[in-house]
Amino acid sequence: MEDRRFAIRTYGCQMNVHDSEKVASLLEDAGLTAATGEAEADVLVINTCSIRDKAEHQLYSDLGKLRDWKAEKPGRIVGVGGCVAQQVGDRLLSRFDHLDFVFGTHNLRRVPAMLEGALEGRRAAWVGEDKSQARFDLPTRRPELPTGTRRKAFVTVMEGCDMFCSFCIVPSTRGREISRAAIEIEAEVRQLADQGILEITLLGQTVNAYGRHDVRRGNAAGAGTMPFAELLGRLDAIPGIERIRYTSPHPLFYDEALIRAHRELEHLCPHVHLPVQSGSNRILEQMRRRYSRERYFEILEGLRAARPNVAITSDLIVGFPGETESDFELTLDLVRVAGLVDSFSFKYSPRPGTGAAEMGAEVPAEVSQDRLERLQVRQKNQTLAYHESRVGQETLVLIDGPSRRGGHQLAGRDPHLRVVNLDVRSNLPISQDIPVGTLVPVRIVGATPHSLLAEPLDPALRPESGGPENAGSRLKSAARQADETDGVDRVGRAAEDALRVI
Ligand code: SF4
Repeated sequence: MEDRRFAIRTYGCQMNVHDSEKVASLLEDAGLTAATGEAEADVLVINTCSIRDKAEHQLYSDLGKLRDWKAEKPGRIVGVGGCVAQQVGDRLLSRFDHLDFVFGTHNLRRVPAMLEGALEGRRAAWVGEDKSQARFDLPTRRPELPTGTRRKAFVTVMEGCDMFCSFCIVPSTRGREISRAAIEIEAEVRQLADQGILEITLLGQTVNAYGRHDVRRGNAAGAGTMPFAELLGRLDAIPGIERIRYTSPHPLFYDEALIRAHRELEHLCPHVHLPVQSGSNRILEQMRRRYSRERYFEILEGLRAARPNVAITSDLIVGFPGETESDFELTLDLVRVAGLVDSFSFKYSPRPGTGAAEMGAEVPAEVSQDRLERLQVRQKNQTLAYHESRVGQETLVLIDGPSRRGGHQLAGRDPHLRVVNLDVRSNLPISQDIPVGTLVPVRIVGATPHSLLAEPLDPALRPESGGPENAGSRLKSAARQADETDGVDRVGRAAEDALRVI
């Protein structure tokens, strides 16, 4: 398969992004090379997501357009994976005769063999559930990490979900909960640290449910798992790892040990993305979320007692079947009482096969839209107030690359996962100022609703145009750009939204 180039088009959450990284590694191990874009590729894999409405239609539209792409160059191959592939399976092959292979969320390892078969004219679909830990045993990383690359990595610790929230399709597409052996997770994180990775994000659909079934059955030793807080403790001790994050936790699985971990573990970041979905107990019950708003507040209180500066973000759904104005107002109220620093909010849309899709009591589209807009205005003001409260503080930014704003700015994230744009010197190529993947001490000098503006503490790295006295004008210009590029930012945020694991 040498001399062939591949591209992967990824939709959806961090789990999908990470699955695409694994598929890329598998293809590279099979001798293929990553293409610079789809136009150059011989093999195109689409990794699909079904969280959003009309995901299946999106895929059908993509596949329709790919008929021409495939015809342009003989020997081209198209494969489809991810949650839609898991649901639709080999019906995709019947519907699209130019599609070569389909693989489910548990069948990544079959991709090289399916590709080989496709090159010999054999079309195939594999969407069976793999209930063994062997499914975690996949290559995820190339050995060398050149300077100037991002120093962040995802690490899968568990997969699947047994919660069956009434609006969610994930238990059908990702299967039952299974946790990976801690020894393998530790080995992967040590390897990442040796390669220079500074920040890891532990991934799982309900990441803090890690090991719970094994612990409950008294089989943790046999399965090689343990309570989530204990796993965090082990990873915190690995030299070289500066930041540990995890996503997405479920409120049901916060215990004393996990809250204590936020006080005790040096590298655990002061940020928790804790999906709440609704502020109304009545709706939470309909959603089958298994906690109340009071319990949610209790968890936040515990986290804040453990780590006073912890930033809390969340996911919210409006227009769930039967949601009244009073239910919605409870959600608005929760945003305020919980002090959410940011949130990803969505209008409810039914997923066939879920309990909520059968409930009826639909909220009219214009009502849902109105509630979404009111919620987002509340959140935007609250996020801006939080950002403004950070002005003057010093923090550390891990540089991700040039800022979306362009100009001579770099962008990165602080420990609270806030986007920080950083003015740097203008007389050097931007990559020579501060390489991507560097942790830079900065002072926050300004705030917009979407990001913080900062300057390096090291005077040698500050912009020639001046120090703090010019921050005000730079902030105004940043705010203006934020307004001008609001559409772009919203697209960016929508893309970021799509990266949430619900
Ligand atoms: S919303 Fe989260 S916890 Fe609920 S079923 Fe979906 S993945 Fe599981």
